[in-house]
Amino acid sequence: MSGLDHVTGLVCVICGVSYPIADSGYVCPAHPEVGSGNEGILDVRYDYELVGSRISRQSLAADPTNTMWRYRALMPVAADAVVPPLTVGWTPTYDAPRLAAALGVARVWVKDEGRQPTASLKDRASAMALVKAREKGAEVVTTASTGNAAAALSGLAASIGQKNVIFVPETAPEAKVTQLLAYGSTVALVKGNYDAAFDLCMQAAEEFGWYNRNTGFNPYMTEGKKTAGLEILEQLGWDAPEAIFVSVGDGSIIGGVHKAMKDAVALGWIERTPRIFGIQSAGSDYLVQAFESGEDVLTKAPISAETVADSISADLPRDRIKAMAAVTETGGSYLRVSDDEILAAVPTLARGSGVFAEPAGAAAYAGLEVAAERGLVGADDRVVVLSTGNGLKDIASAMKAVSAAGTEPMHILPTLESLKEALQ
Ligand SMILES: *Cc1c(COP(=O)(O)O)cnc(C)c1O
Ligand SMILES: [Zn+2]
Repeated sequence: MSGLDHVTGLVCVICGVSYPIADSGYVCPAHPEVGSGNEGILDVRYDYELVGSRISRQSLAADPTNTMWRYRALMPVAADAVVPPLTVGWTPTYDAPRLAAALGVARVWVKDEGRQPTASLKDRASAMALVKAREKGAEVVTTASTGNAAAALSGLAASIGQKNVIFVPETAPEAKVTQLLAYGSTVALVKGNYDAAFDLCMQAAEEFGWYNRNTGFNPYMTEGKKTAGLEILEQLGWDAPEAIFVSVGDGSIIGGVHKAMKDAVALGWIERTPRIFGIQSAGSDYLVQAFESGEDVLTKAPISAETVADSISADLPRDRIKAMAAVTETGGSYLRVSDDEILAAVPTLARGSGVFAEPAGAAAYAGLEVAAERGLVGADDRVVVLSTGNGLKDIASAMKAVSAAGTEPMHILPTLESLKEALQ
């Protein structure tokens, strides 16, 4: 395929067979007997020598591109591919010394993905999906989502006038559904959970020949999400942190962060991979269970997920093989946090760093609190928290969180007297 000479193939995470990019499908077809039959997720592999001749830490330092596409030479897109015009990526990574002091770790940085065009990290994957869909000449692009991947596809599709059909659970937070409607997507609110929406979307894509963006199925989503990890490294001057905390639903973001670290090691940009910590809600803890029990995630049965952090609610994490490897291959851990801990982390993170996260974003910080308590990170560790989505995505949960934190506004008359009385 033209302009993709740096991609050596797509390798199945189950059997290791490599498919040339030009005639690869979404997944390896050799595993119809496992799970849904779509478990043979593919991993994009690169000719790092060739990539290294085109992009380096020095060339990046001189590159004014302020989007995820600054890493284009390390992504499965051609150098001249047209990308959506919205500014996706290069979100800030903020130093948060008060949080570091409170936790007893050397440094805490918060990467604010709430600043993306549709206000979550999912824009990175959806931007990639649209480039690949255009490459294929797709008429319609589709995805199922708990809300953010949908909003991301919807907004980026609107930026280039791409038709799209979106499947979300009827219970998705209002702000996320509103985004879909504002951007003009065809929206199916499914009477069921994310997993039901996912299965229906898969059937519809097959039936109508739509381009399928689904997480843990489309192999290119990891390659979009990994740019968050590359940015963390570059923004910290290629001095890799000791640990990165990521909240986990399907496990695609954490797999992407891991991929970034592997790419950076292969290219000689960093020497060692940070420990990656995956954080799940206690009510949606499939991967924590498997991590603790040593069960094989390929065959472990789905659970019945229920959590306030809708973005990380998954009965069966679709990208679980990559997700498990991200933690086990880096010496990290899977940790569970309660819904109460997640909600409490929303104001803690907001007050300690100025970053207002939706529950799934704050969950990563709640996980860091647990890790610090257990001594999994300590005084020598510099830690990055990936805040994956904006707090305005789910106001109902945020209001619950501040009220549980005992924060009340003052109700006053428009007089100084009334104000003075209230301030006492
Ligand atoms: C999607 C999402 C996650 C989880 O990502 P997975 O790839 O499903 O593990 C976490 N936080 C937010 C805000 C998300 O939108
Ligand atoms: Zn295979």
